[in-house]
Formats: sequence, structure tokens, C-alpha cells
Amino acid sequence: MDISREEIQDFLDKDIFKLISDVAGRMQLDCYVIGGYVRDFFLYRPSKDIDIVAVGKGIALAEAVASKLGPRTKLSVFKNFGTAQIRYKDFDIEFVGARKESYTRDSRKPVVEDGTLEDDQKRRDFTINAMAFCLNKDRFGELLDPFNGLQDLEELIIRTPLDPDITFSDDPLRMMRAVRFASQLGFDIFPETFDAISRNKERIKIISKERIADELNKIILSPKPSIGFVLLEKTGLLEIIFPELVALKGAETKDGIGHKDNFYHTLAVLDNISLKTDYLWLRWSALLHDIAKPVTKRWDNKLGWTFHNHNYVGEKMVPKIFNRMKMPLNEKMKYTQKMVSMHMRPMQLVEEEVTDSAVRRLLFDAGDDIDDLMTLCEADITSKNSEKVRRFLQNFKIVRRKLAEIEEKDRVRNFQPPIDGNEIMEIFGLGQGREVGELKSYIKEAILEGEIPNERQAAYDYLIQKAKEIGLEPIDKNS
Ligand code: ATP
Repeated sequence: MDISREEIQDFLDKDIFKLISDVAGRMQLDCYVIGGYVRDFFLYRPSKDIDIVAVGKGIALAEAVASKLGPRTKLSVFKNFGTAQIRYKDFDIEFVGARKESYTRDSRKPVVEDGTLEDDQKRRDFTINAMAFCLNKDRFGELLDPFNGLQDLEELIIRTPLDPDITFSDDPLRMMRAVRFASQLGFDIFPETFDAISRNKERIKIISKERIADELNKIILSPKPSIGFVLLEKTGLLEIIFPELVALKGAETKDGIGHKDNFYHTLAVLDNISLKTDYLWLRWSALLHDIAKPVTKRWDNKLGWTFHNHNYVGEKMVPKIFNRMKMPLNEKMKYTQKMVSMHMRPMQLVEEEVTDSAVRRLLFDAGDDIDDLMTLCEADITSKNSEKVRRFLQNFKIVRRKLAEIEEKDRVRNFQPPIDGNEIMEIFGLGQGREVGELKSYIKEAILEGEIPNERQAAYDYLIQKAKEIGLEPIDKNS
């Protein structure tokens, strides 16, 4: 990459870097921007997180910078970690003294000592994350890249600065980070680095579930998440952190009839959906939509391979997986469950006849999530038969048009019955009980079937008629 010192100086020509440079000069500290911010400069990715390393007192530098910025500056000091953070404009600036780290076998917590810049760069996870720009006046904008991170950036390679076995054994989270960066940036993991992940995979067990989930979410949110999942699978990490996904692998054949490999199918669906949405939970839904296929798989002499009810069994697996991974067990999980449970509904609809009442039912059951469900279902079409794909997508267009028409006409998306249970009790002088529920569901069914419009008068007339059939008359309020 041909980038001159002048270009780097231009990039660093922000008041904040000038100020840090001045303050560090006065304190006679060597001071650098390091890590992700430098990497992202070369990748043309604007970043708001700035890491500053001072050789010597990081916290003291932060305090001096904060006091220059004025009394309203937000400074947080974390004495235990030897770091301090300043919020300035939309930047998050973290200050730390250069450190040297040594690890014990059973912990990610290193023994930390003061060190040189080079010591600090050695403890970084990857060569592309170990580059630094000097901020001191006489060397302002000088690139310090002892591990050829720039070359690895150009060659799209993730590689550890030191012996990868030591790097990963010291802090096994770095294995997830390697895969995550490869997935986010579309990079390859250098062969020796990759092999070391495979060798050290068991060490991932000392990492907290929350941190693993964080990295997993970043992989899921990357432009082409399959890159990350294929790497997780090939290194053996996936078997440890997410065995349900590995169980999807493989395509069995019996009597010459095979089924698709549901692992690669799932990844294709996840990639498809990622072209359409950045919404994490819709991407999770794609990842989990077929998760119960291995446990529901049966061979049927007439039908071949079947996966009956894999959507409902999958719906039940979602909370177990989220719970184990320490993921939220809230409405995001419920949304994911709903998507998994309903993922075949739009397809069943296009395979049969697209009647108004079937569309109305789909809209009623999906509610406001209908558009997401349609997107998921379209992403689920991964057939290699292009004629089949064309026909499905064409039918989906018809469904989408019908959905819009019916939504306009019948407003069943967030269905509220035009006559509720209380009113029914009043009209017929009933107490709470089975009959009220039955009458209510008659009305709902009639609306969904299109027998009556979603309107009060029509629902009232229908109610009176249905009630009569079971021997109920409205009470006369005047008698
Ligand atoms: P992102 O902001 O996308 O998470 P990043 O690399 O920009 O990625 P951080 O995760 O905050 O941001 O890390 C900042 C820098 O700290 C990294 O670039 C790397 O130099 C170093 N670093 C972070 N985590 C580790 C780790 N587990 N081991 C070694 N170095 C690390």
C-alpha cells in the first residue's frame, strides 16, 4: 500500500490528536495511536474508537488531556486496569500505558508490567491490529509496524504477531476474534494461525459464554456470515460452542434418495438474508430455521426423507440454545422462535392455491412480523434449479401483492375482534365461560375465512345468528 507519511499526517490532523501530541510532549511521554483505529484507517473504514498508548503513564496523560479539554470533559478512570477513557465529540478515546503481559495457564488474566511500545505491540492479537502511528511532534504520523501488519492487510491475512500457539493459549478469545475478523473483512486466516486454532480449540472453554456470544453476533452481522461459520466448523470450534449447527452437516442417501446438507443450506440462507437485512434477530432466525432437522429426520418408504414438525421442534430448541449461550431470553428470543416456527408458512401457501382466506390467516398469525417472515422465506429458496427458483419467487410476488390488498381491505395484521368477550356477555346475559370463548372464535374464524368483513355491524349480525344455533337469544334490556 502506497501511503505516505503526509497522508497519515493529514488523517491525524484533527484537533484531538494535536492536543494529545502537545500534552504528551510537555510530559515527555512517547505516545501512539494503536490497534483498530490504525487498521481501519488503511481499510478506509471510519472509526470512532481511538486507542492511545503512552510509554509510561497512560492515566496521567488522559487526565492532563481532559483538563486541557475543559471542565465539562467526561473522563473515566479505571485504576485497576490502568486505563482511562475520554468521550470527546463522538470519539471514545482510551488511554493506556504500554504494557508487557505474561499469562498463567488457566486464566485470561495476565500478569501486567510496564513495557515498551514493542512489548505492547507483541501482546496484540493480530498483525493487522498491532500497528501504531506516533503522535510525538518530531515523528508525528510515523507508522510503527514491526510485524508487517500492512502487508497482511494488503494480502487479506489474519495472522498472530508471535507464536500462534502461545497467543491463543494465553487468551483463547483470540480464536473467536480471528474468525470474526476474517468474516467481517473477508480475510483468510494464515495457515499456521489456523492450525494453532484447531490445536487450541478446547481452550475456548475457559472463555465466558457472554464473550463468545458477542463474537458470534459480530460474525452473524458480518457481510457474508458463512465465511465465519465455515471457519468455526473447520477449526473445530463450532462443535464446542454450537454443536446443534454441526449436527446439520452431512447428506445421507438411502435407496438412491438423498437430502440436502442442511449445514451448507443454512449458511446459504443466512448469507441470502444478510443481503437484505442488518437485523441481528432475523439473521439469527435464518441460522436457526432448520435447527431441528437432525432430530426430526426420518426415512419413510413412500415419502423418502422427512423432517416432520422440524419448525415446531426448532421453536422449542431456541430458548435452550439462547439460555446456554447466555443470550437474552426476552422478546428478541420470542421473535426468533416465532420466525423458526412459521418459516414454512408462506411457502406452503404458494405451493397450494393462494386463496384470500389463507393469506388472511398468515397475516393474522404473523402480525407485524409478516414482512420479515416473507424475507426469511424468500431467502430459504436455495434450489440450484433456476426454473424452480424463478417460479417460487414469482409466486411470492403474488403473495406479497395479495397481502397488501388484504391488509388494506381487512386490517387483520393486528387483529382486534370487533366485538369482544365482555360485550358478548352483556348481549346474552352470560357469565364467563366456554360459550363466550366459542362465540368469540366463531367471529374470528368468519372474518379470517372472509365470510364476513372485519366490521362491527356484520360481526354483530353474525353473532346473533350463530348464538341462535346454540339456543341463545340476546336479552331484552328493557324488560
Ligand atoms: P472492534 O471494534 O471491531 O471490536 P477493534 O480491534 O477495533 O475491533 P477492540 O476489540 O476494542 O477493537 O480492540 C482494540 C485493540 O486492542 C485491537 O485492535 C487489538 O490491538 C487489541 N486487542 C483487543 N482484544 C485483544 C485480545 N483479546 N488480545 C490481544 N489484543 C487485543
